[in-house]
Amino acid sequence: MKKDSLEKHFKDTLKGGGFINNQELAWTLVSEAPKTVHELEVKVGCFFDRAENGKIHQKAFAGQSFDRTVHVADLSGIQIVSRMTDQIFAREITVFEETRGLDLLRSKDEERIVGAILSNIRTGEIFVVNAKVTIVATGGSASMYKISAPSFDKTGDGMAMCFRAGAEFVDMEMVQFHPTGLIAGRSRLNGSLLEEGLRGSGARLYNGLGERFMERYDPEHLERSTRDRVARSCFMEIMAGRGTENSAVYLDASHLGAEFVEENFPGMVERVKDIGKDLAREKVEVTPTAHYQMGGVGIDTRCQCNLKGLLVCGEDAGGTHGANRLGGNGICESTVYGRKAGDVAADLALEEDMHPYLDSQAEKIRMRWLKPFLQGSGENVYEIRDEIEDLMWEKAGLVRNGSKLTEAAHRLDQLLEKIDSAYVADRYRAQYNMEWNNIIDVTNLITVCRMVVNSARCREESRGAHYREDFPETDNEGWLKNIYQKMGDGFQLELTQKPVVLNRFKREEIEDRFFEKVKQH
Ligand SMILES: Cc1cc2nc3c(=O)[nH]c(=O)nc-3n(C[C@H](O)[C@H](O)[C@H](O)COP(=O)(O)OP(=O)(O)OC[C@H]3O[C@@H](n4cnc5c(N)ncnc54)[C@H](O)[C@@H]3O)c2cc1C
Repeated sequence: MKKDSLEKHFKDTLKGGGFINNQELAWTLVSEAPKTVHELEVKVGCFFDRAENGKIHQKAFAGQSFDRTVHVADLSGIQIVSRMTDQIFAREITVFEETRGLDLLRSKDEERIVGAILSNIRTGEIFVVNAKVTIVATGGSASMYKISAPSFDKTGDGMAMCFRAGAEFVDMEMVQFHPTGLIAGRSRLNGSLLEEGLRGSGARLYNGLGERFMERYDPEHLERSTRDRVARSCFMEIMAGRGTENSAVYLDASHLGAEFVEENFPGMVERVKDIGKDLAREKVEVTPTAHYQMGGVGIDTRCQCNLKGLLVCGEDAGGTHGANRLGGNGICESTVYGRKAGDVAADLALEEDMHPYLDSQAEKIRMRWLKPFLQGSGENVYEIRDEIEDLMWEKAGLVRNGSKLTEAAHRLDQLLEKIDSAYVADRYRAQYNMEWNNIIDVTNLITVCRMVVNSARCREESRGAHYREDFPETDNEGWLKNIYQKMGDGFQLELTQKPVVLNRFKREEIEDRFFEKVKQH
């Protein structure tokens, strides 16, 4: 019987990532995944679905040479978060509910990060937590695009905080679009995912003309091609005028049998039912949707970055997935590296002394965030947010080119100034002030968008999720490189490029053999 191995998982991850992954991070991801799954079951209380032989069932996600995704039906993340929350309650750990990180704090000698300044959303109070070690893990900011999958609370806060504190980022141009986001008009479900396991199980994609269009783009792997290819193919069909009336394509799982779909994808069936459709029995309109950021703060395998006292993990960190994340590797990353960050933080907290923060810096940050209350009039945050989402979708989305990216970069610089003069109309109420929180969202989104756009302008080739119609080829001679950036003078971006460190495998050692494996699948 065909068997999986760490090496196969590792090679799939590099191949999917267009070979610009940080290989040490990718290796740690795959090699520590089995023990993390074990720990999630025996220590945290997650119970993953079983195969008939009683072993953990593993399902197919795109780009895998072996069906390896461990899952709980089609809602694994919810199971993990719920059981983890139980563990936090059981240990009486102090939790600041509905509290939002605003910025990181530096020590008096400016040498290290010593905690964060936070706001209590319920009361509007801004307060400081002084810490020996600080972990940033706020998820990404795909909500910068007009159609996106994550919840709206993911507005790049962590990345923006790290940027303002001086952290170095890697490959920020790499944003993943999932091919199958639900079309749901102006409802909040618009862009939410129909998961990849559906295509892994054989669901098909059709354009508005009824053509199974993946035959045109990847006849070998069809709907099981990697996410970037499938998403771009959907987008190109829509752009070519072959989409549906609602600028979408169709996902059809009905031929798999209603019983199979209902039993294996209950969460997805339920989601589609919410918009009055029946996933098990009819085709459903879908569109590419911004989903995940591969780029983020550059870390080592202990989640440490260029700032002492700061650990970054999960989607806020970059490098593990290179140019494209494989399905299943997202939760894998947040659990493997979340666990790691916790262990490292515990070690450091025993070794380190508490360093005081700079009062004047904390006060400056507090006053900056309170500024929208002090202005009697100014820019409307909601208009700026709409503009960002459209700008990113049209000029820095699935298909990019130099001139659109340049336009986006200039406009984002202007929007950064505009958001600085945004004001809160209800200025006497800081409690649950959604307008104020939106100003914080948008400030952070623009900060991250600028990094995405500038890195995308810099990479003059196409690789993984980054597709440039003016440079449609992958250039392994010139661009087997990572793009780093951090804050320079006056909030400008400082970009540098470095060759990818190919310390475990060279590209040629994997590429051909990978396709053999997928063919046999
Ligand atoms: C719809 C959807 C389906 C997915 N399905 C899969 C899948 O099947 N398999 C897979 O491997 N991956 C999947 N992913 C990807 C996976 O969810 C992510 O890789 C993973 O959640 C990232 O983990 P994280 O810990 O970095 O961030 P998150 O899980 O996003 O957690 C970040 C947390 O930080 C909080 N936060 C944000 N800002 C602040 C702030 N300023 N202060 C305090 N807290 C803050 C957020 O509210 C959130 O609770 C999916 C993603 C989406 C959006």
